[in-house]
Formats: sequence, structure tokens, C-alpha cells
Amino acid sequence: MSDVRIDDLPVRDELRGKSPYGAPQLDVPVRLNTNENPYPLPEPLVERIAERVREAARGLNRYPDRDAVELRTELARYLTRTGGHRVATENVWAANGSNEVIQQLLQAFGGPGRTAIGFEPSYSMHALIARGTGTGWISGPRREDFTIDPAAARRAIAEHRPDVVFVTTPNNPTGNAVAPETVVALYDAAQAAKPSMVVVDEAYVEFSHGSSLLRLLEGRPHLVVSRTMSKAFGAAGLRLGYLAADPAVVDALQLVRLPYHLSAITQVTALAALEHTDTLLKYVEQLKGERDRLVAELRALGYDVTESDANFVQFGRFADSHTAWRKILDRGVLVRDNGVPGRLRVTAGTPAENDAFLDAVRDLKKEQEQSG
Ligand SMILES: *Cc1c(COP(=O)(O)O)cnc(C)c1O
Repeated sequence: MSDVRIDDLPVRDELRGKSPYGAPQLDVPVRLNTNENPYPLPEPLVERIAERVREAARGLNRYPDRDAVELRTELARYLTRTGGHRVATENVWAANGSNEVIQQLLQAFGGPGRTAIGFEPSYSMHALIARGTGTGWISGPRREDFTIDPAAARRAIAEHRPDVVFVTTPNNPTGNAVAPETVVALYDAAQAAKPSMVVVDEAYVEFSHGSSLLRLLEGRPHLVVSRTMSKAFGAAGLRLGYLAADPAVVDALQLVRLPYHLSAITQVTALAALEHTDTLLKYVEQLKGERDRLVAELRALGYDVTESDANFVQFGRFADSHTAWRKILDRGVLVRDNGVPGRLRVTAGTPAENDAFLDAVRDLKKEQEQSG
């Protein structure tokens, strides 16, 4: 068809030779690689979505509510009810997935001549979205056990004076949560250095043993807490992410968002899902139980397992994690090789999916022991 490659086009220099985000989408029986919720939406919710979409379809000749006020009001209500902190409509912003929320944050607070820092290994999209928005990326340190060393992190912030600081808690791909005191220490360091925006990515917080950091928003106008309906709400296909912050942050994001970025269909579908919050959060409870079972059983098998507050578990160690990934795949189970040396990540699935995974790693362990 065409033998023109990306690098033959006049693309921006920072995109040359790069690869797109790409978790493998392979057709295998058990897919535990992208931290999705394994449960399809319950049938009454599916019915309710169909009803609300039908209603919205009658108005599709018009642009949707540009400011998504009804949806932001319901998201604020959800955060207030579950997050231990009062959040109002004007504190909330929503977009197509929290990836778009993060992109808008970097468009407003990052950009050419500015930098962002994350403490790695962490969510790879923070660095990729930084690149896409022309924001310089700084890889901050983590300890050997994947926790953040507050002193080392504060030094990195003081040295680089980034414009945006990302803190993912619970962290992906490692699973562990960041202590609230550490987030406060990083916020204070970031204010002393610049001042900069601090973005707490709480994509997995509903699965956590601890509580949300929403309460830290009080008196911290440069703090942002981002959330998503992709994980706990089991709606990765919907593409709905949101944040809570000072209303001035929401005003800043309205300077960079595309007009009518959230379709009327997306808005009513998210509203329907929020009507079923209690049912969806019951699945979260089941998944937390399964997550704890994975941790316990992997440890019993002798694997080195990172503490998890998320719906996935990081385990190892492997002399060669890619070979181990392949061997688990040969047994019909797709997990994730995030490039963390010696480790793999498995998403908590249904009990049957987790059993299949545990059988596969039990086999792998036996094979390793036999080959010495
Ligand atoms: C999955 C994930 C998200 C969610 O992104 P969406 O665009 O909302 O699907 C955000 N942050 C982290 C750390 C994640 O792992």
C-alpha cells in the first residue's frame, strides 16, 4: 500500500523513532493484563443505559452540555459520599478517560519549556502524555521495594523544579499505595521549588485498604486528585475520567479543552452508571477479596509479591520476566510485562480466571525448580 514511514513525515523531533502505547490485545481465554474489571455491567444497568441513550438520541442534532454540569454534579455527590471530603460541582471536571484529564492538565500547566516528574516505575502514560504535549519528562526515584523515599523525592523536586508532579496511589504497575504524609511532603517541596501542580492519580483508590486523599485538597489549591470509571466502575469502554481540585483549576482546564469534548452519549451513559454505584461497588468488594487471595497464594508458592492496594498484583522474581510471561501465555493466561526487571503484573479477575492463573504459575514454579 505505502512504504512511507513515520520518520519520512515532517513529524515533531520528539516523536521520531517512538512506539505508541500498546498493551497486547491478544485473543486468549484468560486476559488479566490491563486491570479491567472482569465483570460485565449488570443487566438492569445495561437496560438503564439503553433507555437514557434512546432519550439522548432525540437531541443529538444539538451539541451536548459543554460543561457537563449534571454529570459533574453526580460525580461530586459520589466523591462526597465515598471520599470523606465535601466536593462540589465546581470542584469537578470530566473528560474522555482520565488520560484526557491528564492531557488537559499538561496542556494547561505543562507544555514546551516546562517539565513534569513521576516516580518510576509508575503509570507509563504520564510520560507519554507529557511527550505528546511537548512537556519535558523527569524520571524520579523509587526505593528497591517500590515505595517512594520522601527525602530522595524532595531532593529531585528541589533540583529539577518541575511544573507538574505526578503521584500515582495506589501505584501502577507496582500496586502499593503512597502514604498521605509523603504526598503532603511532596506538595510542600513542589510549592517551595516553583510552585507547581501536584496531580494525585487515584485510578485504583476504590480497591485500596486505605482512604482517598481527597481530604488533602482543603487549603491546597495546587493539588489535583484524578479518578476514572475505567476500573472500579467496570466501564473501561465508556471512557470517562474526572478530577477534583480547586475551582480555579477547573477554570484553567476550560481554556484548553475542545468544545463539546464529552459527547451527550458519554454523559448520559456515565450518569446511568452512577445511578448503579452501590451495585458496582459490591463487585469491587469481591475483587478486593480476590486480590488478597492472589497475594496470599502467590506468596505461599514462594513468589516475591509487592503489597497491593489495587485490583492487580506485581509478582516475581524472574531471571527473565519476558520468558516467564510467554510461558504463562502458553498456558492460556495473558498477564502484563511492564518492563519492571524480574516482575510481572496480574489483574484480579473472576475466581475462575484467578484459579487458571494460579494453576499456570504453579506449573511454572515446578518447571523452574526441576531445571534447578
Ligand atoms: C488505568 C489507569 C488510568 C485510567 O485511564 P482511563 O483513561 O481513565 O481509562 C489512569 N491512571 C492510571 C494510573 C491507570 O492505571
